[in-house]
Amino acid sequence: MNDQQHVVKQHDWSCADARVLYAMDKWADGFYSVNELGHVSVCPLEGQELHIDIMDVIREARSEGTSLPMLIRFQDVISSRVRRLNHKFQMAIRESGYKGTYRSIYPIKVNQLQEVVAEILEAGQEFNIGLECGSKAELLAMLPLITDETLLLCNGVKDRTMLILMLNAQQLGQQVVPIIEKYSEFEHLMSLAETRQMKPRLGVRLKLNTKGSGRWFESGGTSSKFGLTIPELVKLIRQLEDRRMAKQLELLHFHLGSQIADIQVLRSAIREITQIYADLMLRGMHIKYVDVGGGLGVNYGGDYDTPESSINYGLREYANVIVYTVKEICDERQVPMPHLLSESGRALTAHHSVLVVPVLGVHRPDSLPIADFLADAPAVVSRMAAVFRDAQSAQKSNMLLECYHDAQEIRQETEQMARLGYLSVEYIAQSDSLYWSICREVLRKLAAAELVPVPAEQMELEKQLTDMYLGDFSVFHSIIDHWAIGQVFPVMPLHRLQEKPERRGQLVDLTCDSDGKVNKYVSMSGTSDFLFLHDLRRDEPYYLGIFLVGAYQEILGDAHNLFGRVDEVHVYARAEETNGFWIEELLKGISVKEMLSQVQYFPNDLGRRMSEFIRRQINAGRIKPAEGTRILNNYTQRLGDTTYCDSYFEESS
Ligand SMILES: *Cc1c(COP(=O)(O)O)cnc(C)c1O
Repeated sequence: MNDQQHVVKQHDWSCADARVLYAMDKWADGFYSVNELGHVSVCPLEGQELHIDIMDVIREARSEGTSLPMLIRFQDVISSRVRRLNHKFQMAIRESGYKGTYRSIYPIKVNQLQEVVAEILEAGQEFNIGLECGSKAELLAMLPLITDETLLLCNGVKDRTMLILMLNAQQLGQQVVPIIEKYSEFEHLMSLAETRQMKPRLGVRLKLNTKGSGRWFESGGTSSKFGLTIPELVKLIRQLEDRRMAKQLELLHFHLGSQIADIQVLRSAIREITQIYADLMLRGMHIKYVDVGGGLGVNYGGDYDTPESSINYGLREYANVIVYTVKEICDERQVPMPHLLSESGRALTAHHSVLVVPVLGVHRPDSLPIADFLADAPAVVSRMAAVFRDAQSAQKSNMLLECYHDAQEIRQETEQMARLGYLSVEYIAQSDSLYWSICREVLRKLAAAELVPVPAEQMELEKQLTDMYLGDFSVFHSIIDHWAIGQVFPVMPLHRLQEKPERRGQLVDLTCDSDGKVNKYVSMSGTSDFLFLHDLRRDEPYYLGIFLVGAYQEILGDAHNLFGRVDEVHVYARAEETNGFWIEELLKGISVKEMLSQVQYFPNDLGRRMSEFIRRQINAGRIKPAEGTRILNNYTQRLGDTTYCDSYFEESS
C-alpha cells in the first residue's frame, strides 16, 4: 500500500512514474503504456512500434455518435495474443523435438461476440485454430462458421438434439467432435449413430485426481461435476472394442478450471492424463489428441492474496510444461506422441478490451470555511479548534499523532452529545469540519516525513481520507468478477498522467448497491484499497480505464438496476491512418426501452399510460397543455437513451 506513496514523492513527476504507480509492467503485457502527452497509448501489433493514443480513439468515437461509458476493442490485440500463444508452442515443439503438433481451441463461452470469434479464427488460420462450444446455442452459432478443417469440440451437457446436430455435422464432413462428459451421453450417441449406421468420432473428458488450485479448482478432481471416472472410461472402451470402433475415440481431455495460478498443478494433471493416454495406446487404441483444457491464466496484477488475479508462469513456461511433460512420458513408455490441444479462452481475449469510464463527480468529507465559525461555540468545538491549531504548527511526527488521537477522542464525545441532543447541527458541522481538516493536515505532514515503518495511524488516515469517485458504469455489468470473486482489474486514468495524481480515490458505480464499487486496486507490491487519482477540473472530463475486461465479463455481467450493455467501438491499428487507427465498427449499447422490455414493461404501454396520466392532469387544470406535451415528449425520448448517465461535461474539443 505504502510503496505507492514513495514513488509519488521521491522525485519530480514524469509519465514514466505513472507507469510505475499503476504497476503497468505487471499487467499491460506490452500492449498498454503512457505516451509523452500523458495519455494511455496502445501498441496492439506485435513487433511494431505503432502506438495509438487512446484519447484519440475516444474523441473520434464520440464524434461519430458513441456515448460513454464505452468499451473499446483493440482487435489486433486478439490476433497478437493468438500468435504469441501459438508461437510459444511451436518453439517448444521445435526445441524439444516433439513429434506431434499443437492447436489452440478457442472456447467461445469466454467471449462469444461474433467479431471476437471472427478475429480469433482469422488470426488462427495459419495455426489451424479450432473452437469449443458448451451449449446448444453456442453449437448452432458455430456450425455455419467453421471450415472443413476447423476442429469444433463440444463439451457441456449434450441432449439428444445436440448429439443429432453433431452427427449431422460429421456427415457433412465437418470436424465436430463430441466430448463425452457423462457415460449416458456415450450411450445416446452410440444408439443415434447406430440408427444412421455411422461410426461417430468422439472424445472423452476425464475426472483426474489432480485438483486445480485457484478459484475454480472444483472443475478438476474426482468430485468435479464433469468427466468420466476411470472405470467409466474402461467400460466405454470395452463397448467401443466390442463394436470394432476403438479407433473412433480420438481425444482425451481434462479441464482443471480457469486461471490456473500454479503451474505445478497443471504439470501434475498432464502427467496423469499422459499416463492414461500411454496405457490406451499400448492397449491398441488410436488416440490422436491430448487436450489439456483451459486454465491458461492472465496476470491482472494482483498478488498472493488474490490468486484469481495473478499467476506464477508465462506463456512460454506454459507451453514448455505441456510439451516437455507429454514428450517425457511418451518417450518413457515408448508410445507415439499425440497432437496437443489447449482450450485457452481467457488468455486470448482478456487483454483486448478497455472500458472507458467517465467520472461524474467526487465525494469527499466536506469542510466549512474555518472563518465561518461561531465565537460562542461549546467546549467540544473550541477544543477541536485548538487541536487544529496544534496540528498546523506541529512538525514532529509524535506531535502529529497526538493531535490525531485527541481529535478522535473529541469526535467521539461530540457524537455522544449529538445523540443526546446537546449539540445543534451548526456545531456538529463545525466540529466535523475541524476534524477532517486535522486529518488532512496530519496525513499531509506524516506522508511528507516518509516514516519507516509507516505508522498504523497513517494507514488509517489514508483509508478515511479516500475520496469516492463516481464512475458512469456498473460493476455488476462490466466487471462482475470483481464483485463475485474479488478478482482485481487494473484501473487507471487514461489522461493527465503527466500530472502527479495526489488524491486517494475509490471508484464507485451508479448502482444503488453498496457493493457497487472497486475496492481493490493493482499496486506495485500487491494490491491497495485506493487508487491515486487527479482532482477533477471544472468543465473538463476525467476518464478512467478499466483494463483486461475482454474475457468472461461481458457475458457474465448482469442487469442490476437495469444498467445494460454499453456502447462499443472496434479499433484496428493502421499506420497509414492519421492517428494510426481506424474504427471499423460502432455498436450502440442497449437502450432503456429494450432493457425494460426484458422485464415486461413495454414502451407503447408505458407511453400510453404516461400520456393518459398527463391528460388527466391537464383536464384537472394542474398544468397547461403545452407543458404537458413537453413533459410527455421528454419522457418518450428518454426511453430511447442508453441506460447510463448523461455526461455532465460537454466535450471541449
Ligand atoms: C471454460 C472452459 C475453458 C476456458 O478456460 P480458460 O481458463 O478461459 O482458458 C476451456 N475448456 C472448458 C471445458 C471450459 O469449460
